[in-house]
Amino acid sequence: MTRVYNFCAGPAALPTAVLEKASGEMLNWQGKGLSVMEMSHRSTEYVSIATQAEQDLRDLLSIPDNYKVLFMQGGATAQFAMIPMNLLRGKNTADYIHTGQWSAKAIKEASRYCEVKLAASAEDKNFTYAPKQADLKLNPDAAYVHYTPNETIGGVEFDYIPETGDVPLVADFSSSILSEELDVSKFALIYAGAQKNIGPAGLCIVIVREDLLGDVLEGTPTAMNYQVAADNGSMYNTPATYSWYLAGLVFDWLKQQGGVSAMAVINQRKAKKLYDYIDASGFYANPVAVNNRSKMNVPFTLKDAALDKTFLAGAEQKGLLNLAGHRSVGGMRANIYNAVTEEAVDALIDFMKDFASRNG
Ligand SMILES: *Cc1c(COP(=O)(O)O)cnc(C)c1O
Repeated sequence: MTRVYNFCAGPAALPTAVLEKASGEMLNWQGKGLSVMEMSHRSTEYVSIATQAEQDLRDLLSIPDNYKVLFMQGGATAQFAMIPMNLLRGKNTADYIHTGQWSAKAIKEASRYCEVKLAASAEDKNFTYAPKQADLKLNPDAAYVHYTPNETIGGVEFDYIPETGDVPLVADFSSSILSEELDVSKFALIYAGAQKNIGPAGLCIVIVREDLLGDVLEGTPTAMNYQVAADNGSMYNTPATYSWYLAGLVFDWLKQQGGVSAMAVINQRKAKKLYDYIDASGFYANPVAVNNRSKMNVPFTLKDAALDKTFLAGAEQKGLLNLAGHRSVGGMRANIYNAVTEEAVDALIDFMKDFASRNG
């Protein structure tokens, strides 16, 4: 069976080796005679799977001991609410950096719980860049500063970590976690929905400094209280057991590839060759400021939007799938997460060249 080159934004491609391993273990996990999906989350077997996954993630990102790793549900979207609920801690305002559609959703949701102040907005240039440190208007009374290091839809990536002094820094790493090294100690909280660079949908990873826990907003649902999740090993209620297991297989796979530093080299190379070709083509274009171009999500337009449908149909014939841009922006977008191979990017560029020469 041939597998397609899948450039989907999310749920996104998973490493073939991981799917093969899961497939081999599907009916009979390690000789126990049942699948992971059928195990009690309290069983010794499942607890060993869960614990190993957490340890591998800790190793991959060198997560310091004073951070909790939580395996939550509800996607990154539920975090848009859980963050103010858990991190306002008696304050009533938070700073948000507005860089595109995902930060917009985070801002809208947080506004239900506190006064959101915009530390900066990239709306003036249609969200094609990340505001610079010098342009951030930070409020010393803010409960925290929230930003989106990689805007998945616009393909805009910060090329620095904001400096926020004593105010806790919170980051939505849904589309770029594990794509390169990360100094976790610079953050109060990192979160990431799993379905882009971690594993299947249904899981959201939260990495949070433990001194921030325990002072939640009145009325916070128990299932959304980080302290409760931390005290119960993310098993206050039944977690997304199979997604957690699959994420663990991905972490193990990443370790075998040489960890995030090795992935970063490949990701850098994949992104560079795609942007270099787009810039040189005279047929395709990417609007994002060069320093802020995402290494994971590469939006591009064709010289003539009337060719979009032909492009997508031709790509599909070559086994290049899910290249249509987000429904809100149109054009194309190649999402080239960890599991999207360099071979897939090469095949895409070959097709783009051929298409441009036939339609240019
Ligand atoms: C995909 C995405 C989300 C939303 O994730 P859900 O799991 O669907 O809630 C939030 N933020 C960013 C940056 C994303 O890429």
